[in-house]
Amino acid sequence: MLIPNPLRLRVCFSETFIRSLQPPSIMDTKFFRKLGRSVSSLGLGTWRMGEDRFLDDSSVAALKRGIELGATMIDTAEAYANGRSEELVGRAIKGFDRDGLFIVTKVWPTNASYDGVLKAAKRSSERLGTFIDLYLLHWPSSFPICETMRAMEELVKTGLVRHIGLSNFNVKGVEEARACLKNTDIAAIQNRFSPTYRRDYTDVIPYAQREGMLYMAYTPIEKGALSGNRLLRRIGEKYGKTPIQVALNWLICIEPVVPIPKASRIEHVEENVGSLGWRLSSGDFAEILGSL
Ligand code: NAP
Repeated sequence: MLIPNPLRLRVCFSETFIRSLQPPSIMDTKFFRKLGRSVSSLGLGTWRMGEDRFLDDSSVAALKRGIELGATMIDTAEAYANGRSEELVGRAIKGFDRDGLFIVTKVWPTNASYDGVLKAAKRSSERLGTFIDLYLLHWPSSFPICETMRAMEELVKTGLVRHIGLSNFNVKGVEEARACLKNTDIAAIQNRFSPTYRRDYTDVIPYAQREGMLYMAYTPIEKGALSGNRLLRRIGEKYGKTPIQVALNWLICIEPVVPIPKASRIEHVEENVGSLGWRLSSGDFAEILGSL
């Protein structure tokens, strides 16, 4: 089936991409030029984890289960539960091989001054108990972007942070930030993107692909609402997969995209990880693109 692809976005129906997939699911990874490494094709979100102390143990158990099953990228932020989410991530990753993990956290815009960024990163790293693989500016801030980027570059120089990126930015904003950088580059963009929320499909995502950047898709299952989607259910029946697994696989099909669903329940994590190790057909990818 010939599907028009004017954006030159590499998705499931690109032959080379399909051939690069290595089962079993634990091997389902993506390589990014700007990171110089591979990361898991699915990440774990943590927003709201740590807000209710009674749920701490189950949140940590859910994260551990996700890592065991191959979702070794974890996304958190200093703003989540005032840093408690980062502490829970720190607990969850204990005992795992650090080299296999990819820990992402974010600085809140009010801390985006030069000194603010340096201090915030140090606090985040202490809560996580480790260095930061990817440090993001959470939202555009009122500080000059070059001031924030200067601090980000300093963090890379000291080794506290391996890579830097931006969240909730459009292409113009990313380009402005890149123009400030001298010794490093933006390696990742994290924005909202799901099968039904596709604002970035025609610009930010093709840009990330072209530049070799990771694109992290947040709110990828629309807070769980996609579990009731009839089209995703019908397509999933062909593969023995649930609507959520189809939604996540649709996102994973797009070359630079890594979805980061949040799940504090083990059964949710196990279902989400079932999106790894297989791919939708080109026809099913296109039907979701055209119908939702
Ligand atoms: P989401 O991942 O689309 O949805 C999370 C919700 O879906 C939780 O209530 C979760 O329940 C539920 N869920 C998870 N797996 C499920 C399944 N298999 N079936 C049914 N329901 C399921 O939304 P999100 O938390 O907004 O986004 C994901 C992550 O992206 C966040 O946690 C955060 O790390 C990041 N994020 C970043 C930004 C940003 O500005 N950069 C903004 C928003 C989010 P349980 O927890 O009960 O399992």
